Amino acid sequence: MSRRSLHTPAPDAAALRARLDRARSAAAKADTDALLIAPGSDLRYLIGQAGGSFERLTTLVVPAEGVPALVVPKLEAPGYADIPADELGIDILTWVDGDDPYRLVAGRLGKPGRVAVSDFTPALHVLALRGALGAAEQILAGPIVRELRMRKDAAEIDALRKAGAAIDRVHARVGEWLRPGRTEAEVGADIAAAIVEEGHDQAEFVIVGSGPNGASPHHDVSERVIERGDVVVVDIGGPIPEGYNSDSTRTYAVGEPRDADVAETFAVLLEAQRAAVAAVRPGVTAESIDAAARDIITAAGFGEYFIHRTGHGIGLDVHEEPYIIKGNDLPLEPGMAFSVEPGIYQAGRWGARIEDIVVVTETGVESFNGRPHELVVLDA
Ligand code: ZN
Ligand code: ZN
Ligand code: ZN
Repeated sequence: MSRRSLHTPAPDAAALRARLDRARSAAAKADTDALLIAPGSDLRYLIGQAGGSFERLTTLVVPAEGVPALVVPKLEAPGYADIPADELGIDILTWVDGDDPYRLVAGRLGKPGRVAVSDFTPALHVLALRGALGAAEQILAGPIVRELRMRKDAAEIDALRKAGAAIDRVHARVGEWLRPGRTEAEVGADIAAAIVEEGHDQAEFVIVGSGPNGASPHHDVSERVIERGDVVVVDIGGPIPEGYNSDSTRTYAVGEPRDADVAETFAVLLEAQRAAVAAVRPGVTAESIDAAARDIITAAGFGEYFIHRTGHGIGLDVHEEPYIIKGNDLPLEPGMAFSVEPGIYQAGRWGARIEDIVVVTETGVESFNGRPHELVVLDA
């Protein structure tokens, strides 16, 4: 029997085991003897537990052939007590200070020709593994694991749907807090509290970009006092207990917008965002979704003010594959989930962005965010 923490519902053991099997085949297909997966979202995807990276080595050794093993310091092992190791068919190999954990990894692998280390493995472990694994070539595991993670299963899609509904409930309440005379930081603190109240584990990011700050896409919050007539970009999200993230942007106006060009510009943005969502279906490329938004914005003369890609994949990480960007000719498949978030940024004056998370379905697209997309003009 596996115990499971109430705080971190993990997929059932059968689903995890299937992922481990697919990871093994993906390693074999990539001519790689083993994947070495550090704590983080890749690890959570494969065994249901993310753990933490420290100076002591923790790594999941997934050989292309043979039994996977979690190499973990004995003092960190209790953190992995919830994983159903027996049902997953993985060995737990603990080590204590004074042991050489890199030799432990080498001992599982014999003389590998090539190993793939996960993208966010600390360099001190990567280099020590290089020493212990002799002639083995090291490559990144990211491109191998992302082939799996990019195609969400039904439970993952459910989790993203739930995250989308939770962040929609927060956007529905933004008018309670976004008022003239308050600072972005004060508004942001209220939003962060609501993100948790509405079912997230934490507020991973809260962007309240008022007036000129809205023209900086990754603005955080500041001490700027919100004024009547400001346009305000609110981009918020975080993980729900299942580990999957929300990420949604709506643009608000505190009373009627002060700048005369807002209505016309926002209409272009709205059309672009709608067109990009409507273009999503199996078989079209990721870059075609970027083009669907960008062509409309460019034709209206605002191309130079749309200064980022149209979207990013989302799941256990807020930003992951597939990226919705020119040059990415990846054909979309059912189960791929990503943001569609064009923006128009007028430096020094104001900015606007509209962001939904969508998933490719068998026949088209489902959006996880349902709040109105129009500029939300608040009473002020
Ligand atoms: Zn972003
Ligand atoms: Zn966002
Ligand atoms: Zn985003």
